[in-house]
Amino acid sequence: RPVDAAAVARTRELDSAHVFHSWSAQKLISPMVVTGAEGSWVYDAEGRPLLDFSSQLVFTNVGHGHPKVVAAIGEQAARLATVAPQHAVDVRGEAARLITSHLPGSRLNKVFFTTGGAEANENAVRAARQHTGRRKVLARYRSYHGNTQTAIHLTGDPRRWANDSGAEGVVHFFGPYLYRSVFHSTTEAEECQRALEHLEQVIALEGPSTIAALVLESVPGTAGIMVPPPGYLAGVREITRRHGIVLVLDEVMAGFGRTGTWFGYDVHGDGERIDPDLVTIAKGVNSGYVPLGAVVLSDEVAATFDERAFPGGLTYSGHPLACAASVATIRAMEDERLVEHAHHLGEDVIGPALREIADRHDVVGEVRGTGVFWAVELVKSRETREPVVPAGATGAANAPMAAFTKACLSRGLLPFVNGNRTHVVPPCTTSDDEARWGLAQLDAALGEAFGS
Ligand code: PLP
Repeated sequence: RPVDAAAVARTRELDSAHVFHSWSAQKLISPMVVTGAEGSWVYDAEGRPLLDFSSQLVFTNVGHGHPKVVAAIGEQAARLATVAPQHAVDVRGEAARLITSHLPGSRLNKVFFTTGGAEANENAVRAARQHTGRRKVLARYRSYHGNTQTAIHLTGDPRRWANDSGAEGVVHFFGPYLYRSVFHSTTEAEECQRALEHLEQVIALEGPSTIAALVLESVPGTAGIMVPPPGYLAGVREITRRHGIVLVLDEVMAGFGRTGTWFGYDVHGDGERIDPDLVTIAKGVNSGYVPLGAVVLSDEVAATFDERAFPGGLTYSGHPLACAASVATIRAMEDERLVEHAHHLGEDVIGPALREIADRHDVVGEVRGTGVFWAVELVKSRETREPVVPAGATGAANAPMAAFTKACLSRGLLPFVNGNRTHVVPPCTTSDDEARWGLAQLDAALGEAFGS
């Protein structure tokens, strides 16, 4: 695609002078200029297409520039661009209805809208604390829940460290992760059983009557895409119900088709049985075209606030443009059968290709995932499973992964790289041929970066 070199130079200049970037030492980054995007492709500073295997931050589930979503935003802007959250608006109600219609479980009927995932988790914990009159919250190590006060304390990765006040009442526990099992398990069934026993013990020793909520990504995403073994989420549901602990499932990344099912907690087909008390969503709810998140409340938790005010709100809660984008996104996913397509991509294209790649490259320790949600774990040795770069590595220590990223980009592939892993997380709209082409580039990039 033709690009205006002067405009690109100006973009770089303005970005460097005035934009302060997330999670970064400002002088050590050089952000890629994006000049356009369409479907599963983004265009760089030279107008070169890159196949987006990241869905940006894993949110463009319907791809870039979906015409129906773009049109819906435009039509809504012309009709009623904005309105405060205390009013009733057609498009907000319809978005809430469509969201609840796809959530397994019959009790999830009310939607509190936010502008992103962190605020959704923030308000889920607030609702659980009000509902139970308890304060403590359990969350998993190897998780990400967002960057606001409660959400970053829930987070079980190093991004919490610099923010940790130690005063949010969050206790972390281990979830199932067979490849790096802390329970010394050798099978999925063993890992599942031991992880549930561990959780029982944490709850017993913390005091069940002090715990308001357990917050859990149904499929932990950024931390490494660990699909829970069959029975784990049902087991967590049983334990939390027995102790009167509100179960909050974080579907911010896993939700809306990414796992090849509408929601991650239904990945083994038992979502109805798991029946969480609260579900948090964002990202895929409208593919990130306009910021939107939400907490979906079960009838029981919602009823706590029938006669008593919910102590939370946001100026842009349920913004009409974001809700219009959500209605159009969900309808497009239904009409184009995108969840089924994501499932097919995982079963028939991505999964088999990644397993072949793992056979060819010694540097690949494990591939795992489902739908359009896959992790490739890179290790120094298959025996020791030592990560190819240490956790949180930067600069020279991260050189091998930086070389891999460069090798992908030079072949026209935009990868998602986190620590010693690359995640294969393209939009649900990616065609079989596009996915195959991208996987071939990933294969070649591994060879170039690791000589394997
Ligand atoms: N929860 C999960 C599972 C996420 O992956 C993220 C973001 O990556 C969040 C919450 C936070 O969402 P946001 O960045 O929209 O606040």
